[in-house]
Amino acid sequence: MSSLIPIVGAAQNYAWGKYGSKSAVAQFSHSNDPSVSIDETKPYAELWMGTHAKAPATLKDNRKKLLSDVIASDPSKYLGSKVLSQYPTTNGGLPFLFKVLSINKVLSIQAHPDKSLGAKLHVADPSHYPDSNHKPEMAVAITDFEAFCGFKPLPEIDVLLQKIPEFYQLVGAEVAQTFHDKISSASREDGRRLLQSVFGKVMTASPETVAKYAKKMVARTKSQPELFGPVLADLIQRLNSQFPDDVGLFCGCLMLNHCFLNPGEAMFLHAKEPHAYISGNIMECMATSDNVIRAGFTPKFKDVDTLVSCLTYTTNPVEEQKQKPEDFARGTGDAKFALYNPPIDEFSVLQVKFEARTGLSAHIAGIHGPSIVIVTDGSGEIAVKGEKSQKAEPGYIYFVAPDVELSLSSSSSGSPFTLYRAFCELE
Ligand SMILES: [Zn+2]
Repeated sequence: MSSLIPIVGAAQNYAWGKYGSKSAVAQFSHSNDPSVSIDETKPYAELWMGTHAKAPATLKDNRKKLLSDVIASDPSKYLGSKVLSQYPTTNGGLPFLFKVLSINKVLSIQAHPDKSLGAKLHVADPSHYPDSNHKPEMAVAITDFEAFCGFKPLPEIDVLLQKIPEFYQLVGAEVAQTFHDKISSASREDGRRLLQSVFGKVMTASPETVAKYAKKMVARTKSQPELFGPVLADLIQRLNSQFPDDVGLFCGCLMLNHCFLNPGEAMFLHAKEPHAYISGNIMECMATSDNVIRAGFTPKFKDVDTLVSCLTYTTNPVEEQKQKPEDFARGTGDAKFALYNPPIDEFSVLQVKFEARTGLSAHIAGIHGPSIVIVTDGSGEIAVKGEKSQKAEPGYIYFVAPDVELSLSSSSSGSPFTLYRAFCELE
């Protein structure tokens, strides 16, 4: 088998996805496999490109065969010896899962455990924590993208607490006043404890209490919008229409950073940091795991005690939450390369982008681990050195074996030929 294998991903129709052909997930699925028809009445939320048993990728030339079967047939060829020894597999599993997300409605506010907490939770409650792994995630925006990411700086939370009566009342006068009085002189550790006390009050309030204050607050965004400012007032109204009277209006809208990413900007979500995606299309890469601790905007199980006790309660401005792209020395030629390289072993993501012209070319020297490549814009060709080149159009996905040189050439003039490549390479 070639070292460059065309594959087909698996679409997931979660309720928060964009509908029908408005969804990048549906567009890509149909373009990669025209026999897939798009149902305009269905949401298309995620396209999984990997070996996860819940929705595994298959070979484009033989839809009955899984990518994981190919990898399992010769793991050292398809994963490389280093990756194989760190992430041993008997069933051809990759250490990462690469996805396209097309988001119409806010996802649940959540955090993920680190490795030691993941192991503990899995032992104590395996039905809610299905594995013992950590779950670092990174999102790279492919359209304008909006998310919650980490706690707002304490003074910003304090201003909202003092200004918005329903927030103050939900938290209670005692905790709210202590927070206000102490944050300016608090040590970093005390600041964390103060933030935890406010967050704990919000998260442990009864649903009836939350609903009562949420209704009043939403009404206030209309009667006194100047109290919130136009962006926050709009956000609260919008998310309330998606999840009426939800605790996420408080623990999300009023306590977490509201981040906007331009296409090509990325954020890495550290363990034990609260986050939620709100709208837009992204490439997402994560370590293979299903461990999620949820806080709001969800009908699913919320483990409030674990959540309140485990978060780091660090606060950072939005700009510091972003994962800055680095240069990528192994890429040469006419394309621009941006490497998103978060501080974990399981994955990095490379963006390769040409200008909107035909006849440009670029090369990428071998990466010492497995990769998945998807074309998101424009068109061109892709080849492994010494082999016949293959078409590369939006939605086309390839698995690339370790240590082979890739050649790319552009053939689109309307839009810039653009690819994303997730890979695992160990130092
Ligand atoms: Zn997450």
